[in-house]
Amino acid sequence: MAGRIIVVVEDEDAIRRGVIDALAYAGYDAVEAADGEAGLTAARGRDVDLVLLDLALPKMDGFDVLAALRKTHPTLPVIVLTARGSEDDRVRGLKLGADDYVVKPFSAREMLARVEAVLRRCPDRPHPIQSIASNGHTIDLARSEVRFADGTVAVLSEMETEILRYLATHADHVISRDELLARVWGIDDQHLETRAVDMHITRLRNKLAPADADDKVEWIKTVRGKGYMLGGGVAVTEREVGSEQSQ
Ligand code: CA
Repeated sequence: MAGRIIVVVEDEDAIRRGVIDALAYAGYDAVEAADGEAGLTAARGRDVDLVLLDLALPKMDGFDVLAALRKTHPTLPVIVLTARGSEDDRVRGLKLGADDYVVKPFSAREMLARVEAVLRRCPDRPHPIQSIASNGHTIDLARSEVRFADGTVAVLSEMETEILRYLATHADHVISRDELLARVWGIDDQHLETRAVDMHITRLRNKLAPADADDKVEWIKTVRGKGYMLGGGVAVTEREVGSEQSQ
C-alpha cells in the first residue's frame, strides 16, 4: 500500500494535520487541501489513489465536490469524513458514490484501517494495455498504429491512441464524454467541449473503418445518452509487467 497517493480535503487544521501525519507515517504520499475547490483540483490530480473528504467545507461543500468528482472519476475511491450523529450526511455521501465513511472524532488507527480496506477492494492500477484486436485486425497502442488483416497499416494520432487506451483500460465501463475530456484531454467541467469528443471519435472511427469493409468490427460502441465504450468483440492484451517485450 505504500507509495499510494491520498488526497486529504479537510478545513480544520488540527484534524488535517493529524490525518496527514498518520498517512505519512503509514507510508502513503499525502496531498492536502483546506477547502472544497482546492480539494476537487487535488483529487483530479495525476495518479491519485484515494480521497479522504470532509463534508462541511468552505468554498464548495463535500457533497458538491463528490458529485463533480464522480462525473470525471467514477471509480476513484472516496471516504467521507462525517460528524457524529449525522446519519443523513452518511447516507447522502454513500448515495453520491462515496466508498465508505469515517465518523469524527476518529483515531488514526481506525482511519488507516478504512483506507486500507477500501484500497484493498478497489482494483490496483490496471496493467498497461499493449494492443486491442478484432477479426484479424490489430491496434498496437505502443506504436500508435493499426495493422489491418489485409496487411495495410494506418497511423493513429496521440489523442486517438489515448482515447482507445482509456476505453480499453476500462473496457467493462461506459465512459462519459465528461470523463473522456477530463482523463484524455485534462479538461474539467467544460460541457461545451463535449462535442470535441464526438468529433474525435468520428474521425477515429473513419480511420478504423477499413476493418469494417469485409466483416463488421465495432471498435467503439456508442451508448445512447451515456457515452462510449470499447466494442464487445474487441480483445484486449495487457503488457506483461516487468518484461519489456515489444512484438
Ligand atoms: Ca469541516
